[in-house]
Amino acid sequence: MEIAASATPATRALATDAVHAGREDLVELGVHAPPLDLSTTYPSHDAAGEAARIDAFATTGARPDGPPVYARLDNPTTARFETALAKLEGTESAVAFASGMAALTAVLLVRASMGLRHVVAVRPLYGCSDHLLNAGLLGTEVTWTDPAGIGEALRPDTGLVMVETPANPTLAEVDLRAVRQACGSVPLLVDNTFATPVLQRPAEEGARLVLHSATKYLGGHGDVMGGVVACDEEFARKLRQVRFATGGVLHPMAGYLLLRGLSTLPVRVRAASTTAADLARRLTTDPRVARVHYPSIGGAMISFEVYGNPHDVIAGVRLITPAVSLGSVDTLIQHPASISHRIVDADDRRSAGVSDRLLRMSVGLEDVEDLWRDLTEALSARSVRSALPAQPAREGDREGLQPRPVGR
Ligand SMILES: *Cc1c(COP(=O)(O)O)cnc(C)c1O
Repeated sequence: MEIAASATPATRALATDAVHAGREDLVELGVHAPPLDLSTTYPSHDAAGEAARIDAFATTGARPDGPPVYARLDNPTTARFETALAKLEGTESAVAFASGMAALTAVLLVRASMGLRHVVAVRPLYGCSDHLLNAGLLGTEVTWTDPAGIGEALRPDTGLVMVETPANPTLAEVDLRAVRQACGSVPLLVDNTFATPVLQRPAEEGARLVLHSATKYLGGHGDVMGGVVACDEEFARKLRQVRFATGGVLHPMAGYLLLRGLSTLPVRVRAASTTAADLARRLTTDPRVARVHYPSIGGAMISFEVYGNPHDVIAGVRLITPAVSLGSVDTLIQHPASISHRIVDADDRRSAGVSDRLLRMSVGLEDVEDLWRDLTEALSARSVRSALPAQPAREGDREGLQPRPVGR
C-alpha cells in the first residue's frame, strides 16, 4: 500500500489547524491530550548553564531552549496555546498574558521603552482600552481620530496606531487595508477579539500586532481569563521581556483551557454567527427596535437600540444572561453605557456612537427560536412597548435614561 506524501500539505485549513496546532509533538510524547505543566520552577544542578540561559533571555527575549528556569519566563503549556494562536492568525509568534488588558499594557510598555509614547486610536474601543489610553496611566498620550485622519495624526513619537474592528460595542468596521497604508512605518495594532481569526485575519492586511481578549471567544466558555498578542518574532521577543519584568503571565491552567478552546473555535464561531445573523434580521423588522448593528463580515455579536428603556430589556430576559463579557457558549446581554463602557466619559462615549439606548448581545449556541422567544418577551416589557413609536429615542440626552418606574 502506498500512502501519498501529500497527506500533510504545507497549508492546512483553519479548522484543521484549530485542533492540531500546538500539539505537534503529542504522538512522539505518547499522549493524546496535551500535558499540563504547573511548575513554578525547574531544577538544574548546572548554575553556569542557567546563568547563560538567563543572559540569553535578557538580551534576546527568545523562548529559552529546554526548561524555562522560572515560570515567569515561559511555560510549556502556555507556549502550546501561543503556537496554535499564531498559526490561526498567520503570524510568526504569539505572546500570552493574564488578560486582554495585560496584553495591551505590554504593547504600550514596549513602545514607551523606546520613547514612543504617542498613540493614534480610533473610537470606539473596548471601554477599558479607551480608559487605559485616555487616562495616561502608562504615560501614554493619545490622539483620537476617525480612520481617515490617521495619517495626519501621526507624529515623530507615535509608537502605535490602534483600531478595533468590528468595534466594541457598536460593531463599527474599519477598512484595515486603508488604515494600514495610512500608518506608514508605525505598527498597527488590531484588536481582533470580536471577529476571531475565523472571520478576519488582520495580519494578512498588514497589521503588525493582533490582540485578543482570550477571555472571550478563544476560551469560549466563560471560565478562563487571558490575553494574547500575535505578531512577528522580533516584537514577540520584546513582549516576552516586558512580561518577564512586569509579571502579567497567563496561568498554565488558563493556557491549557485556551488551547482546548481553540480546537472548537471555528465550529463555535460559525454556529453562533448563523444564529446571530438570523436574530439580527428579526430585530431589524421589529417595531420596538430603533436600530440594529450587525457587521458585514458576520459574527456572533449584535448591537441594537430600543425605543424604550433598555434597562427593562436587561431586567426582562430569562434564558439570556444579563452580564458583561462575551464569546461564551451561552448568550449574554448588557448595556454598554452602564457597564462595559461606563468608564469612558459620557460625551466621548456618545460621540463614538455608543448611544444610551444601545444594548450589546453576545449570541451563544442555544436554539434560535428559544433565544428569539426570550428576546421578544423582554422587549415586551412595559416601558419598552409604551415608548414606541411616537416618542423617539433621545440621542445625546445629557440626563441619561429615566429610572425605571418603581413597582411595575
Ligand atoms: C474584554 C475585551 C478586552 C479586555 O480583555 P480582558 O481579558 O477583559 O482584560 C479588550 N478588547 C476587547 C474588544 C474586549 O472585548
